[in-house]
Amino acid sequence: MNKFIKSLKSQGKLNLSINKSSTFHWEHFKIAGPCSVEGPDIIKIAQEIKNCGATALRAGAYKPCTFPVTKYKNGGWKEGLKKEGLELLKEAKKSSGLAIVTEVMDVRMIDEISEVADIFQIGTRNFQNYTLLDEVGKHNTPVLLKRGTWATLDEILGACERILVGGNKNIAICLRGVVGMPSYRHIYPSIRWAPDLMMIPALKENTNIPIIYDPSHSTGYRNFVPAISKAAIAIGADGLIIEAHPNPDKSISDPDQAIDFKTLKKIFND
Ligand code: PEP
Ligand code: MN
Repeated sequence: MNKFIKSLKSQGKLNLSINKSSTFHWEHFKIAGPCSVEGPDIIKIAQEIKNCGATALRAGAYKPCTFPVTKYKNGGWKEGLKKEGLELLKEAKKSSGLAIVTEVMDVRMIDEISEVADIFQIGTRNFQNYTLLDEVGKHNTPVLLKRGTWATLDEILGACERILVGGNKNIAICLRGVVGMPSYRHIYPSIRWAPDLMMIPALKENTNIPIIYDPSHSTGYRNFVPAISKAAIAIGADGLIIEAHPNPDKSISDPDQAIDFKTLKKIFND
């Protein structure tokens, strides 16, 4: 039991500036949206996500892609719409009233992203980027820290400690799958990670930090998203972050795991 991290309480209550009359909690927090901001459609998507029961819209304006060049040749999109994507997220936020969750990949992006994001997403690739964790720790924007695909329980607690000691108490851990499931690849080529469900009770026993489960990256395959969402909530996850798209197969990034809005609505309302 890590007494020190236990003494560093994360706030269950979320201080979000988007809607002064509402109080948000990580518990029952429902985040959804496409992997990336793909264009002006994000404004309509935000409304649809809201109609499905979401409290926040997720979409990356800056996307760290495993293959930065070879996979995406449709001119101009390379690793996200960047500034244009952030502007679109601003509009989506204004029209829908949803909180915005979007990735900050680097300390140099913090100021720019904080103008739009209600919650900073730290991606799995930056889970142990200590400079970045220290900086968001000094910020007052809540943080969703995605687990590194390699990370042990100790390393998760240590990364959280780093943000909490900076003074930012508004954090949640996002479990998003870990390495170790090549056995599925023959039949399910899009499966890259193994769902990390047991980490939910393990974290609950060691810290009060809220847990948001990501059934999209942890499965890599849309048909498994409803079952893994249900399992995560059943064993104690506080909330979910799910990739959804109006035309899932046409998603620019992560098409195989994106679900449609009908499925999303069912997951959020079951
Ligand atoms: C994402 O949420 O789209 C993403 C890139 O996730 P991760 O950092 O977990 O790979
Ligand atoms: Mn994604």
